Amino acid sequence: MDKRDLEQTLVLIKPDALKNSLTGYLFSTLSEFHTGLHYCGTKIVHVSKMMAEEHYAEHRGKIFFPAILDYLMGHCHYSDKPWKQRVIAIAYQGRDAIRKIRDIVGPTNPLEARLEKPGCIRSLGTMVPLKDAEGNMIGQRMDNLIHASATHNDAEREIKLWFKPNDIPPLMRAYPTEQSREFYYFKENRLYGKYEPDSVCILAPSDVVWKSDLESLRKLCKGIPASGSLKSVVAKYLINEKLAENW
Ligand code: ADP
Ligand code: MG
Repeated sequence: MDKRDLEQTLVLIKPDALKNSLTGYLFSTLSEFHTGLHYCGTKIVHVSKMMAEEHYAEHRGKIFFPAILDYLMGHCHYSDKPWKQRVIAIAYQGRDAIRKIRDIVGPTNPLEARLEKPGCIRSLGTMVPLKDAEGNMIGQRMDNLIHASATHNDAEREIKLWFKPNDIPPLMRAYPTEQSREFYYFKENRLYGKYEPDSVCILAPSDVVWKSDLESLRKLCKGIPASGSLKSVVAKYLINEKLAENW
């Protein structure tokens, strides 16, 4: 297979799309018939704070950062129904996947989307006033229904953040994998190479793992700085773990 046909991109169907029952419309719009792309992974995720912070790491420190975490975690659209707080994560594959999906998704800001690209997915979004504790307007939250990776680097980081290799069929994996020979455990923001009471086992011998994650874990376990932070590696292993609520 030509390497270009393995290009992957991450899509998140965000809580406002779920609440407005746009899921079927989005799946159909992004279907192989319309985009020529293939589904290679999908999961329904109750998004933890750790996952939201890692996903939007590039926006840390910006005034709208807390609002987009709450939005992704479903706190804005399902504040009284925690069991409905979820997103659908989908990996799509195919030539030019990143650009094709960003084109259909449209501009970040729904108002701009309506003006510049009527009919794109985000033209169906809404703007919500953001206020500080005193009730002063500090900006607007962009409820734009969908996330799509913007660049090749973002796509790789995001696919590896949300998916384990085994969430994707072996012949559809775009990034190198390795089999773990070690155990790794996580507890209270620390990594352990041996069992620790109340920890979560994130990797065991024979588990298939992203090669870059394993390289990071080996370094982090020895206290050496690594290319990926501990949370960026660990977050996917805590997806839908009840305990992750606290992390
Ligand atoms: P995109 O989702 O198009 O890649 P960004 O990565 O810039 O856009 O932003 C991530 C998300 O944060 C956006 O989808 C949107 O929901 C929100 N956002 C971005 N910029 C702003 C802003 N200036 N004010 C409020 N929310 C924003
Ligand atoms: Mg972005």
